[in-house]
Amino acid sequence: MTNPEESASDQHAALFPPTRAAALARLEAFVTKAGRHYAAERNRDPGPGLRGNVSMLSPYIRHRVLTEREVLEAVLERHSPRAAEKFIQEVFWRTYWKGWLQMRPQVWRAFLRERDAERERIERSSGLRQAVAAAEEGRTGIDGFDAWARELVQTGYLHNHARMWFASIWIFTLRLPWSLGADFFLRHLLDADPASNTLGWRWVAGIQTPGKTYLARADNIARYTGDRHRPTGLSAEARPVRDETPPPPKPPAPPQGRPPSDRPALLLLHGDDLDGYELVPPGVETPLVAIAVSGHRNHPWPFGGQAARFVEALASDTADRLSRGGQARVQVIAALEADTLGRHCAAAGVRSILTPEAPVGPLAEGLQVLARELEGDGIEILQMRRPWDDLAWPLATHGFFRFKNRIPELIARNGLGTEDPDFR
Ligand SMILES: Cc1cc2nc3c(=O)[nH]c(=O)nc-3n(C[C@H](O)[C@H](O)[C@H](O)COP(=O)(O)OP(=O)(O)OC[C@H]3O[C@@H](n4cnc5c(N)ncnc54)[C@H](O)[C@@H]3O)c2cc1C
Repeated sequence: MTNPEESASDQHAALFPPTRAAALARLEAFVTKAGRHYAAERNRDPGPGLRGNVSMLSPYIRHRVLTEREVLEAVLERHSPRAAEKFIQEVFWRTYWKGWLQMRPQVWRAFLRERDAERERIERSSGLRQAVAAAEEGRTGIDGFDAWARELVQTGYLHNHARMWFASIWIFTLRLPWSLGADFFLRHLLDADPASNTLGWRWVAGIQTPGKTYLARADNIARYTGDRHRPTGLSAEARPVRDETPPPPKPPAPPQGRPPSDRPALLLLHGDDLDGYELVPPGVETPLVAIAVSGHRNHPWPFGGQAARFVEALASDTADRLSRGGQARVQVIAALEADTLGRHCAAAGVRSILTPEAPVGPLAEGLQVLARELEGDGIEILQMRRPWDDLAWPLATHGFFRFKNRIPELIARNGLGTEDPDFR
């Protein structure tokens, strides 16, 4: 008999081969379609195996095996900013959500508390437990919804429109707690991301943008799935789950410490930025690169088994590439663990660890604990923020509409072309 975990794992690997070479090949194959074709076709979900209308790059971009800058550079080599406007905006949605959460980290902590309270409630209420299990296992009888639940578990991916329909039906038709739906996504998506996922669910639920919810409608689902799905019995209304004024933004604190220019350091890469080798300032020696495949034991990450295997395979691909290039000695390590890193620092004769900044989420929380643990041994951790994030995050003060107007300037300031006055 086939083991369901193994067969899901095979499907993930076939759909998202865990290498940078595969990510680059996918980018290259998609880039010609990133212009007007994407703008016209991106909302359609033709179904598994047929999604040439979207890039399916998110699992790679999320772990920064490919960077946002690199993706847009390839797109802008083939298209004018106007022709690729929609695709560019979608990539900037990721950056915007990250910036928004970076300036309001309490929203992530509030999500975790709410999720944990709902998990406890599930223990006490067998009705809720059974309803959540039926939704997660695709046994609700709702056309479309059940297929997406199974697809998510089997492949680790859903089209953006399917994520919106699924979240809306979960919240407004099935009347299940939004935080448990967000948790279901986090445990199964290969691109599971604290910012895009939490804020995407909050947006559907009407918590993110006060008074605005997203209602899934049967005719919209039928239209954009090419009539594959036409559910009946969907809720006809979507009242915000609660009224909540989002907290005001606090400018993102600068990353901790400054990279040393006069002494060698250990470079620590992690699943929030596997491409961070390029951030090391010129002249800084890194006798050892450690690549952590998971988080700190106090803040476990990745959230699900499939994403854990994906990140582990990406880490070993990164290690192979760096070793082959002869850039440095590379060691894959199991976790953000003080003893292991302390030993590696001692062996490499360094007292500084350089690491790409982890945005709000479990890796950032894990790095904070790790820094306190290593302090006693006289080892400092210095985080490096990417110019991409440094320029964009402070602009996520209000809604996406205001942020969007700054995209031409961000493109120019990232060296991806001159500011086009017609591109807004
Ligand atoms: C409820 C909900 C939960 C979500 N959870 C996640 C998540 O955990 N992780 C995640 O990466 N995305 C999440 N998204 C955003 C979006 O659905 C995915 O990024 C997108 O579907 C990825 O597929 P693609 O690479 O084929 O996208 P494309 O359509 O090809 O878009 C290109 C790139 O733009 C970015 N992007 C596109 N749409 C969005 C968006 N709405 N928000 C942020 N970035 C976007 C992604 O990096 C994507 O790879 C969520 C959306 C919703 C509505």
